[in-house]
Amino acid sequence: MPDSWISTAAHLDAFVRELYPICRSITGDGLRQTLRAIQGRIPLELREVPSGTKVLDWAVPLEWNIRDAFVANERGERLIDFQRHNLHVVNYSEPIRKRMTLAELRPHLHCLPAQPDRIPYRTSYYERSWGFCLTANALAALPDGEYDVCIDSSLTQGALSYGELLLPGALPDEILISAHTCHPSLSDDNLSGIAVAVALAQELSQRPARRHSFRFLFAPGTIGAITWLAQNCETASRIRHGLTLTCLGDSQPFTYKRTVSGQASIDRAAARVLARTGAAHQAIDFFPYGYDERQYNSPGFRLPVGSLMRGRHGQFPEYHTSGDNPDFTSGDRMFESLGVLRAIVDELEADVRYRNLEPYGEPQLGSRGLYRALGGTSIPNLQFAMLWVLNLSDGEHGLLDIAERAKLDLATIREAASLLESHGLLARA
Ligand SMILES: [Zn+2]
Repeated sequence: MPDSWISTAAHLDAFVRELYPICRSITGDGLRQTLRAIQGRIPLELREVPSGTKVLDWAVPLEWNIRDAFVANERGERLIDFQRHNLHVVNYSEPIRKRMTLAELRPHLHCLPAQPDRIPYRTSYYERSWGFCLTANALAALPDGEYDVCIDSSLTQGALSYGELLLPGALPDEILISAHTCHPSLSDDNLSGIAVAVALAQELSQRPARRHSFRFLFAPGTIGAITWLAQNCETASRIRHGLTLTCLGDSQPFTYKRTVSGQASIDRAAARVLARTGAAHQAIDFFPYGYDERQYNSPGFRLPVGSLMRGRHGQFPEYHTSGDNPDFTSGDRMFESLGVLRAIVDELEADVRYRNLEPYGEPQLGSRGLYRALGGTSIPNLQFAMLWVLNLSDGEHGLLDIAERAKLDLATIREAASLLESHGLLARA
């Protein structure tokens, strides 16, 4: 990686296309292969948590792996073939090898009548079953007869894999960026989130100074976040802000899903950044469904973790179907999403709290040359900004609070704070 790496749209798209063919799940070799591909770009630490490990109210399931699966006719022709698309198999299907009639097979076949050309994505993690997914058109075309049904999978004592990267900053306080890694060949949900998170990690790893520490977590949805939380209660208490990333490569406007309180710094930072883009966007209130923000925001943890997406999960037709492929997502959209994510992070990084060292009355700015320092047309704003910074630097308000209250842009507030700090009137709280 060169010194000043910034991912381009082409890099983001290429990474999504590289990961797309892998059959991921909440455990197993496809998940490991994905984590290793991420590790090829950032120094991710891989963890393995054995099957059966108790994690909060859950237990790590048996590890699932799959080699092959098909439904073949009497001539041996594969009419449904896992090798052609991994969505053809219900994820976590138990193994089966049997000849059966179409009537016997039919309860195990899933399609989308409303989208007859698309294969649905189905899972059965916690209930032992097996099944195939196919287009409604293909299902309608299956003739009566005997079929050779094979799912060459295994459910064994193994492990749940996840990866994390900590980029230490000046503060122990952490910003969490979390992306789920369990979906097989689906691009927007959530290879786009993985690609954008990796790109941000690459950028942040090269910054000479980080104020916050940054933790990147790549883990299977739900059980991965629960496993991480179960094993990192202490670490979790250092998370001050966080985002889950999903669906960042489609062409819809941005959607930001707030934390439970709706008032966290991350909520305000996201609102400011999205307003600044000038692009259409929506902010929605928290609800306890969706992705891992619901684990992080659970009452025992209450971590202020919002969710950044474009198309809202479950609300666009390609969601959880074969229509969500690398031609549905685009590098340009992911690149744009990376820009919004970076801007949100930068707001949090800039949100320094100061303490006014001359808090009794206003300090005399003129005697310190601070009026002379105010040259040019920006005088009133910068002077005004200094007065706001002095007034609100009581250790309770950060620069973002001050910028909002003063209705001035953050850059002016930062400039004022930096001037006051260099004149000994402010210290970091
Ligand atoms: Zn999903």
